[in-house]
Formats: sequence, structure tokens, C-alpha cells
Amino acid sequence: MIIDCHGHYTTAPRQHEGWRNEQIEAHKAGKPPPPRPRMTDDEIRETIVGGQLKVQRERGTDLTIFSPRAAGMGHHLGDASTSEAWASACNELIHRVCSLFPKNFIGVAMLPQSARVSPKNCIPEIDRCVNEYGFVGINLNPDPSGGHWQDPPLSDRYWYPVYEKMVEHDIPAMIHVSAACNPAYHTTGSHYLNGDTVGFNQLMTSSVFKDFPTIKFIIPHGGGAVPYHWGRFRGLAQDAKLGLLTDLVLRNIFFDTCVYHLPGQQLLAKVIPVDNILFASEMIGAVRGIDPETGYHYDDTKRYIDQLALSAEDKAKIFEANARRVYGRLSGMIEKQSARGV
Ligand SMILES: [Zn+2]
Repeated sequence: MIIDCHGHYTTAPRQHEGWRNEQIEAHKAGKPPPPRPRMTDDEIRETIVGGQLKVQRERGTDLTIFSPRAAGMGHHLGDASTSEAWASACNELIHRVCSLFPKNFIGVAMLPQSARVSPKNCIPEIDRCVNEYGFVGINLNPDPSGGHWQDPPLSDRYWYPVYEKMVEHDIPAMIHVSAACNPAYHTTGSHYLNGDTVGFNQLMTSSVFKDFPTIKFIIPHGGGAVPYHWGRFRGLAQDAKLGLLTDLVLRNIFFDTCVYHLPGQQLLAKVIPVDNILFASEMIGAVRGIDPETGYHYDDTKRYIDQLALSAEDKAKIFEANARRVYGRLSGMIEKQSARGV
């Protein structure tokens, strides 16, 4: 089985994002938001059959761990109450996709974060998504201000209520920023990769893994700058007398394969132990074009893994076994959703 651990609903029906714009406009005007739009099952089916499901079939993958559009989370817009209503709408839509296509999609929640608001407000939504929707993870934004970094680092006890919930439910968090509102950053070019690198560095130098020995984080987009600069982080850990980097982080931190060229994948697989790499593509996401050097989509990452000089057993870990281990509830949900299969 080939499990893609990083997919977003980038093709949601138009009225979904349309409502978001109306909600933010209403908030600015000090008015209540309009009622949520109606979306039929057929409308949702159409966006998936012609989108993510089509790509799964073309590329030979089986299951996508699916969450709301990351750039659309927009935690810097509105306030805590608009974030709560928007997260609820987005997660409900993911649940509808997973219910319509139970063999192909399993959900991950976005959180109702808001800059400088304690993430305690995310707890009810995490409980709801795990208990009612069967979601198997969360996306945690280390910078809800959208590129201004106004919240405490992930090492701070500020985030501990979320960490406690992650351990309680046995769900990992993918460290994932949203759109940048700081013009210094390009959202998917620099802000995303920066968010990955910052998140890793904050966790590496923290007590989080001592306080939560079983907690798990996925650093997406191939780990930002981390694998390429592994020697720098090893040296920083050593200078700070934190011990060996591998001992420090590799029980708790995992890297996905959203790296859009073969040399990058080769480096990832050479530097990071195979047990810490999870297959992912973020298909129909940040980079949608075709690479003229290969004739294939940049984000068709399965092709790169297929070409790596690894044993079939190691590739099976990357494609399936590691995801089942890191997402503690995943195997149970696969069984449950397959039983309802279409
Ligand atoms: Zn993403």
C-alpha cells in the first residue's frame, strides 16, 4: 500500500473559499458572518474525482492523509472566533471527502489558531475531529501571525496543552505554516521552508521530547533546510551540550518526501535514516507544473523514491510502514474505512 501523508483539499468547491472571504469582510465590518454555503455530495465528488483521486490513480498511490488547504488556513486573518468557525467548516469538508471516498482519504485537522491567542482554544476542535471524524493527526502552525513570528517558540509551555492532547489521542502534528502576510516572504517558496526549519530548530533545542517522550512531529517539505544542513544542526547540538542529534530528535521527528527533484530525494535518504522518512507529495499543491528535464510533474514524488538505491524493504517503510507507526490511529482507521469502502 502506498500512503501519501501530505495532501490538502486545494480543489474544494468555490463557494467554500467564497464564504471565507465573506466571513472576513463581515468581521472587518463588525457584522456577523453570512450562513455557510450549501455544497452537495456531487459537487464534492466532482472536485475529487477530477483532482486528487485522478492523480492517485495516475501515479499509483492508494491513500492520502488529507487536510484543509494550508495556505487557506489564514490564522493571521480575523480573530479567534473567525478561526474557530473557519477551522470547523474546513474540517467538516475534509470529513465529507473521507466519508465519500473512505478507501482513498483519511483526515487530518487544521486548528483554529490565531496569533497571540493561547492554543488551548484548539482543544475542543482536536477532540471533535478525532472522536467524531476519526482524524489521525493535526497540522500545527508555529507562526499563526503569517510571517511575523509573534507567538512563543514551540519549545515554550504555551504549546503544551496541544502536546498533551497529541499524546492522549496518539496523533502526530505536521509543523505547517499558512499563507505569509509579510511581503518579505513568498508563501510556498520561503515561508513554508522557513517554517519547517524554524520548527525543527525550536524543537531540537527544547525539553519537549523529555516532557513528552512519545510525541511525534512531521517536518514537511523534506524537512526544509534541515537534511541539507544536518552537519550544522549536529554541530549546534554538540556545542549546546545537548548530545548527539540523532539521539536527541529521531524518536520524535520525521521528515516527509515533498522534495521536487531526484537529487534532493537522494540527499534526504542518505542523511536521514529510512525509519524517519514518510512518503508524501502534496499533490495539486504548491508546484503544479511539469519538469521539462523529466517530462513528469515536479510533485510526482513517487517516481523519485522508485529510483532511489534502496532495498524493497526500505522503500516499503517509506511508502507505508512508517506512516502506520507515526500516525498511531492510522491502521485502525484504514480498517474501519475500508469496511465501509466504495
Ligand atoms: Zn502542505
